[in-house]
Amino acid sequence: MLQSCDLKFKNARVIDGTGGESATADVAVTGDRITAVGKLDDVNPGTVIDATGLVLAPGFIDAHTHDDRALIAYPDMVAKVSQGVTTVVTGNCGISIAPLSNREPVPPLNLLGESDKWRFADFDAYAETMDRSPAAINSVMLTGHSTLRVGAMDALDRPATTREIDTMVETLGKSLSCGCVGLSTGLAYPPAINAPTEEVIELARVAGDLGRLYTTHMRDEETRLLESVEETIRIGHEAAVATVISHHKVCGRDNWGDTRESLKLIAEARKHQTIDCDVYPYTASSTVLLEAFVHRADRVMITWSKSHPQFNTRDLDDVAKEMGCDIPTAIERLQPAGAIYFQMSDEDLERVLQFEGAMIGSDGLPHDEHPHPRLWGTFPKVVGHYARDRGLFSMEEAIHRMTGKTATVFGLTDRGLIRPGGFADLVLFDPETIIDRANYESPEQPSVGVHQVYVNGQKIYGDGESTGTRPGRLLRA
Ligand SMILES: [Zn+2]
Repeated sequence: MLQSCDLKFKNARVIDGTGGESATADVAVTGDRITAVGKLDDVNPGTVIDATGLVLAPGFIDAHTHDDRALIAYPDMVAKVSQGVTTVVTGNCGISIAPLSNREPVPPLNLLGESDKWRFADFDAYAETMDRSPAAINSVMLTGHSTLRVGAMDALDRPATTREIDTMVETLGKSLSCGCVGLSTGLAYPPAINAPTEEVIELARVAGDLGRLYTTHMRDEETRLLESVEETIRIGHEAAVATVISHHKVCGRDNWGDTRESLKLIAEARKHQTIDCDVYPYTASSTVLLEAFVHRADRVMITWSKSHPQFNTRDLDDVAKEMGCDIPTAIERLQPAGAIYFQMSDEDLERVLQFEGAMIGSDGLPHDEHPHPRLWGTFPKVVGHYARDRGLFSMEEAIHRMTGKTATVFGLTDRGLIRPGGFADLVLFDPETIIDRANYESPEQPSVGVHQVYVNGQKIYGDGESTGTRPGRLLRA
């Protein structure tokens, strides 16, 4: 019988991350673990937190981030912590900060920053840095295919040779043996667009053999969406690897509605193989400014431009007019640059959010000068807007898609659930008021309704502020 604990949450509405119904309970924490859940009147705590009227949930796991460098550069991770996020998956879309030693980061690798201060020759070097100066939250890392290509190939506009594939297989194997959780690709981007399916299969197999996973920003998210889903299913099947389709969506008005078919394909494949997706709750996307992405959007907003910072937050159409040139020339002049593309429909978005295999991932870009609001708003928006206000699913289901489900997919042992023995990554929020505040005009706004956040048993956020404590860990597979 438990007699004492460090911390006791009293009388909370516990949503445990399984998707099951919530119940009122007390939760005890000692050290970095949850030690008991239930009626704990006889347990003497060091600290007691009255959680009456509030939800206590597992800390949210952001399934899709580009926080590789942010964890080192901004270790308090306020954009994420203020939403209740306690673990992030980094290295997505083929872009990982490691292993990359002496090469110029070509777009979109420059989304992580360009200075050589942030170069790590291998996963271990990155992991050591993280161990030495931890962030407030936990992370797990994927190794990016584009990063591997930049390291192994002298030209990226062609398939890799057998020799180059061997080099990438070896480098990837090394990352995975050091604890990296899988491989990511960004097949829509110039550094990987010329990689044939077979090249990806050979690499994904390395992850599959070790029971790790494969995540992909697919080759096409517009007219050839269905082909891309089929390619992804084939890669997962032939490489025998658990697969995650990144930020599943369809872009461009002419293609709206195609998620009906894409989700059917995924649901069918789920009968024979492990395949899930992540999604962010917005109808605009954001990445580097590329001509290939511009034509399909209703509107394009510049988020950053190294060469013309005066055009940040301006619409590309207006910028081209002001420059007195056509759109392709304006794009060229603005480089290197990032943009927000308004190009999806609410209907497709809600359909993907509701899909049984969907997890929540922000895809936030922490180094953009005027970031997409998903960086600060994703999780409270799903809980407050889509679950509570729109009723797309129950709050329990919303929480499951950002905790227990995600922990299972990424193999995060003892995380993502509230149960005795699990790590004490916790968020305490008000289910009546939780909502995002970040928008396209003012994207760097903390959400409301998130009261307190704990990582590995330590309080990292409360009363709208970071505590400055940094108990986060780089979690290794
Ligand atoms: Zn992506």
